[in-house]
This record gives sequence, C-alpha cells and structure tokens, in this order.
Amino acid sequence: MSFCKWVSLIFVLNLFYQLPILSNSLDLAEIPKNFLSYAKKPEFFEWMVGVRRKIHENPELGYEEFETSKLIRDELEKMGIPYKHPIAITGVVGYIGSGKPPFVAIRADMDALAMQESVEWEHKSKNPGKMHACGHDAHVAMLLGAAKILQDRREDLEGTVVLVFQPAEEGGGGAKKMVDAGALENVDAIFGLHVSTDKPIGTVASRPGPLLAGSGFFEAIISGRGGHAAIPQHSIDPILAASNVIVSLQHLVSREADPLDSQVVTVAKFQGGGAFNVIPDSVTIAGTFRAFSTESFMQLKQRIEEVITGQAAVQRCNATVDFLEDTKPIFPVTVNSEDLHGHFLNVAGDMLGASNVRDMQPLMGSEDFSFYSEVIPGYFSFLGMKKENVKSVPGHSPFFTVNEDALPYGAALHASLAARYLLEYQPQVQSSQGELHDEL
Ligand SMILES: [Zn+2]
Ligand SMILES: [Zn+2]
Repeated sequence: MSFCKWVSLIFVLNLFYQLPILSNSLDLAEIPKNFLSYAKKPEFFEWMVGVRRKIHENPELGYEEFETSKLIRDELEKMGIPYKHPIAITGVVGYIGSGKPPFVAIRADMDALAMQESVEWEHKSKNPGKMHACGHDAHVAMLLGAAKILQDRREDLEGTVVLVFQPAEEGGGGAKKMVDAGALENVDAIFGLHVSTDKPIGTVASRPGPLLAGSGFFEAIISGRGGHAAIPQHSIDPILAASNVIVSLQHLVSREADPLDSQVVTVAKFQGGGAFNVIPDSVTIAGTFRAFSTESFMQLKQRIEEVITGQAAVQRCNATVDFLEDTKPIFPVTVNSEDLHGHFLNVAGDMLGASNVRDMQPLMGSEDFSFYSEVIPGYFSFLGMKKENVKSVPGHSPFFTVNEDALPYGAALHASLAARYLLEYQPQVQSSQGELHDEL
C-alpha cells in the first residue's frame, strides 16, 4: 500500500470512528431538537433579537446594504468564522467546518423595501421611506444564529457549511449576481427559508417541485397624437388604445393558456393625461407576469409584446415594450429538489414533529432563490411565525411585524438542515473519493 493510500486509509478510518456517534439514527434525530433548545436559551435568543432589531432600525435597499453587511461581518469575526467580501457589492459568504467537501449552503437575504413603516415601536425604522417589511432582518438574524450553532460544533461537521448573505432579493436579483460571482463554487446543495405570517409558529411548509412562480415585468409606452378632447377626430387617442391593450392582455391567460397551467398577467400601472379636456400624446402602462414553467413564461413574454404592439397599431398608435431586464431581472421558477424534500421532511419532522411539517400549494409570488436552485439542487421553505389568536399582517404592508419568537426556529432549522446534510450525504462523497473504501 502506497503512502497516499495509507493517508487515505487513516482518513477513512477517522471517519469510521466518528460515524458511530453521528450516523446513529437516534442521534441524528436528536440534532435538530438539540439545536432548537440551544437557540431558545435566553442569552442566545436575546442576542438574535438584538441583531434583528438593529437591522430593522436601519433598513437598506438592494445593493446598498453596507451597514447590514458590516454588522454581519462583525458578528462573523466575533465568532471566528472566515468569510469572503465583497461579493455582489454587499454580499458576504462565510465558511464553517472542515473546508472539505461536501459543501452545503444556507442563505439569507439582507435588503429592505422602499416604503414607510407605520408600526409605532421602540425599534421603528430610522430611515424615512425604507422598511424591513418582508422579514429579511429576521432572515439575517436567523442565519447568524445558525452560524453560531454550527461554529460551536464545527469539530463535528463532516464537511463545510457555506453561509450566503445576499443583497437585493426584492426585484434586484441579488442571487444571480452572487451565482455569477462564484458564491456557489463547489457547493452541492442550498437551503433557504422565508418567514410566513399566515402559518403558525412552530410549523414549516413547503413542497417538492415548483413552489414559486417565475416572474417578469414589462413597461410599454403607447403613443398617439394629443389634442382637444372635444375634437377627437383630430387626435389619435392613446388612452383608448391603452385601455384596449389592457383588455386584450387579459385574454392571454383566459383564452390562450391551459387552465390547468397557472399564469398571471397584471397591469398595475396606468399613467397618462393631466387635464379634463386634453387628449394626451402618450400613455405608459406597466405590470408583471408570472408562470410556473419556462416554456409558459417565454410564451407569455412573447405574446405580451405582440398584443401590446398589435393592439396599439389597430388604434393607430405606436407602442414600445421594455421588459426592464437590466434593472428587474426575470426570476426563474423556484423549483424544489425532490431529493432534498425528503431531507427537509426528516430534519424538520425531527425538530417540530411530523404534523408540524405542512405541505403547501405553489404560490404565484416569486423569489430570487430560484437563481441558486437553477444551478444546484435547492430547497426553499416557509417558516411559520403566526401568533395564536392574533390577526396576521402580510409582508410588504407598512404594518408588518416579525414575531421574534420564530428566530430560534429559523436558526435551528438552517443549522440542522446543513449539519444533517453533511452527515447524511457523506457516504456518496466517500465512495466517490476512491476505491479505498471497497478495499476496506
Ligand atoms: Zn418581499
Ligand atoms: Zn422576502
């Protein structure tokens, strides 16, 4: 046996001696429960709450998360976790464990929304017109919580956990920039979660396959010829043309799409005219479209352009259509890996009890997590934070609040999914590392 083989043998034997503790199914089942009770300890919980409130007070929009990014790096440094920065402007990628494969990633988004907070409380947003109304402040606190749990047990990790803190989820496609910058290099799988105000605390929900829709935006300028509102024959009315365009766009889903293939086309913006008695020169309309397959999505995109230009022409107007892909990238469909679904059911079930791991219908909402799950197996889930007997306010509302009691659940879920992944997906890696395993 050559020297190399002896080294490999020692490596494999090492694994072998560690495995009895870690691969025992009873012990595996204990990991998520232990992580959750650890994250619920008062000192740990209060630290996460503090982090979340600090971020909440200072919300920053996509690609401007400089202070949030700094706070994350400071916390990682305190924990002794190495990281890469900057990635995609404000992004941070941390590494915990052996530095060797397998590599599993857990992800949080950092950005806030351009809206004014209406909740009056001690830690209300200090930045006018900006608010964490989607819970990304909680996502960061949870991922830092997971980092702390995992770093405290780094000796037991059979591989490497990659912490992905990304900018600009809210329409900016920060995930795409992270992928382009190599954040997923060598990574075998990725997990992400989102807080949910309509699912009870202590529950999680997801599904295998398509979970969230692909989404795109469009803006069209319909140009006619302005003039006196009482002498329409001397004008070309873009308001009437735009109205016909909007009605025709509704036919794409109701008449052209398979009723069993869910799609949406919404015109959410209509701007034109400024006087009661003047026909304007042009009208701007804009909206969004959603679908659950790339094929349906591309078909919708093509037909939106054809309908807008064609219908405008019928009304003697010109139209230009812009899909705004530079500033609002098209989000692919978020598709959950079937294989990771089984892993999620096992891990979340061990942590919360099988009855608290719910199946859910796909949602027409979208997530840029889809950029990750497009290139490697990914799994996205929703973390319940609804308090009993309290009416929940959905995300993107100025009255949105986070139930901070959910923070330990998110931290423990992240950490358990990653730690168990490294343990349970280890055998595949061992056998792929060489024939030595067979010799043993
Ligand atoms: Zn959002
Ligand atoms: Zn969100």
